[in-house]
Amino acid sequence: MPELRKDPITGRWVIISTDRSKRPSDFSRERADLKSASFCPFCPGNEAKTPPEILAYRTGENGRQSNANWNLRVVPNKFPALRIEGDLDRQADGMFDKMNGIGAHEVIIETPNHMETLATMPVKRVEDLLWAFRDRILDLKQDRRFKYIMVFKNHGEAAGASLDHPHSQLIALPILPKQVVEELEGAKRYFSNKERCIFCDIIRQESESRIRIAAENQDFITLSPYAPRYPFETWILPRRHESAFENSPSTLYENLAKMLRLVLNKAIQVLDNPAYNFVLHTSPIQENTNDYYHWHLEIIPKLTKTAGFELGSGVYINPTPPDAGARFLRGARLEEVVVVQS
Ligand SMILES: [Zn+2]
Ligand SMILES: [Zn+2]
Ligand SMILES: [Zn+2]
Repeated sequence: MPELRKDPITGRWVIISTDRSKRPSDFSRERADLKSASFCPFCPGNEAKTPPEILAYRTGENGRQSNANWNLRVVPNKFPALRIEGDLDRQADGMFDKMNGIGAHEVIIETPNHMETLATMPVKRVEDLLWAFRDRILDLKQDRRFKYIMVFKNHGEAAGASLDHPHSQLIALPILPKQVVEELEGAKRYFSNKERCIFCDIIRQESESRIRIAAENQDFITLSPYAPRYPFETWILPRRHESAFENSPSTLYENLAKMLRLVLNKAIQVLDNPAYNFVLHTSPIQENTNDYYHWHLEIIPKLTKTAGFELGSGVYINPTPPDAGARFLRGARLEEVVVVQS
C-alpha cells in the first residue's frame, strides 16, 4: 500500500510508493565520474582565467595572489546569476513587483586537484571548505542589501555541474526564497505551539526509534527524513541547537567534515557514485530565528526526474521509503574510504 506522508516542518505531502519500491540498483543513472579536462579554469596555473579571487587558503608562508600554491580559492562566478554592483531599486510594475538583480554569486574551488572529490580528499580539506562557507557568510552578512545566503553544491553533470573540477557555490540574495520561508514558518508555528524546536524534537525521536538514522558522531546525526521528496534524501543535523551555520562553535566543523565525507562515501558505495546536490539550510542573515530554527545540510542524490505531477502539485512521488534508504546507508561497509595524504 502506498503511503501519503506529511513533512512536519513544511506541511508538504509526499507519496511513498511502496509498491514500486526501488532498491539502489534499480535506478538508472549517469555515474558522476570525473573526467580530466584538456583545459580547466579552476586548475592551478590558470588563476588568471577566473575573476580576481575573493578568498584563498594557502599553506605557504607568502600568501601572494600570484602564488599557485593554494588549497582552496573563492572567486566570483564568471557567469553570475545576479550582479554585485548597484541598488535594489524596488519598484512597482503596475500590480507587479520588481527590483534589480543584485546579489553575490561565488564559486568555492574546493581543491587544486582536479580529480579529487569531497569523498576522497583529506578530512582537513573538507573542514577547510566548511570554514570557507563560514568566512564568506560572515563577510556577506555585513551587506545590508542581502537577506539570505544560499550555499550549495552540484556534483556531476546530472546534478547541474557544468565544470568537473570540484567546487561549491554560494548565492547571496536580496530576498527570502519561498522554500526557505516555508521551512522557517513551519518551524516557527511548531515553536509557538510547543515552545520546542521541531528539529531538536525530530533528532530526539529519530534517535530513539533509530530506523531512519544513517550515521552518527559526537556532534552530528544523519537521517532520512520521515517524508522525503527524493529517494535517499539525507539530512545532516547538529545535535546542539543553533539556527545559523556560521555561529556554530569552531570545534564543530571537524566533525561535520568527517560526517559529510562519511555520508558521501556511503552514498558512493550504495548508489554507485551518484551525481548529487547538497544545500545548506541556515537562518536568514538579518533575522534572529534562534528560538525555533536549526541549521542543517540536505543531501539529495540525483536518481529521479521530476515530472508533470510534481510540477503541478508540489507532491513528490518517492520510490524508496526513507527507512529503507537509511538502512542501506547505515549498512554500507567502508573499507574503501581512502585518505589521500595532503
Ligand atoms: Zn581542474
Ligand atoms: Zn533545535
Ligand atoms: Zn531543510
